[in-house]
Amino acid sequence: MAYECRYCGRPLDAGNADHAKFWPFCSERCKMAELGLWFQDRYVINRPVDQVADDAALKAARKPPPDRKRSDG
Ligand SMILES: [Zn+2]
Repeated sequence: MAYECRYCGRPLDAGNADHAKFWPFCSERCKMAELGLWFQDRYVINRPVDQVADDAALKAARKPPPDRKRSDG
């Protein structure tokens, strides 16, 4: 599975010392920037959860097509 820096989206490599040190960020800069967002805006913790909820709502709203046999042919 591929990981990305939570802040800048750069691909992360677990074998990279910096990446491992600041995981899940690629660098101290990105880590601090992300932490700054927490304090500035009370960063929305459940953003991924919202995405999952949206997806579930979409699936629930999208009913399967009726199992109708074709009459033509
Ligand atoms: Zn980064």
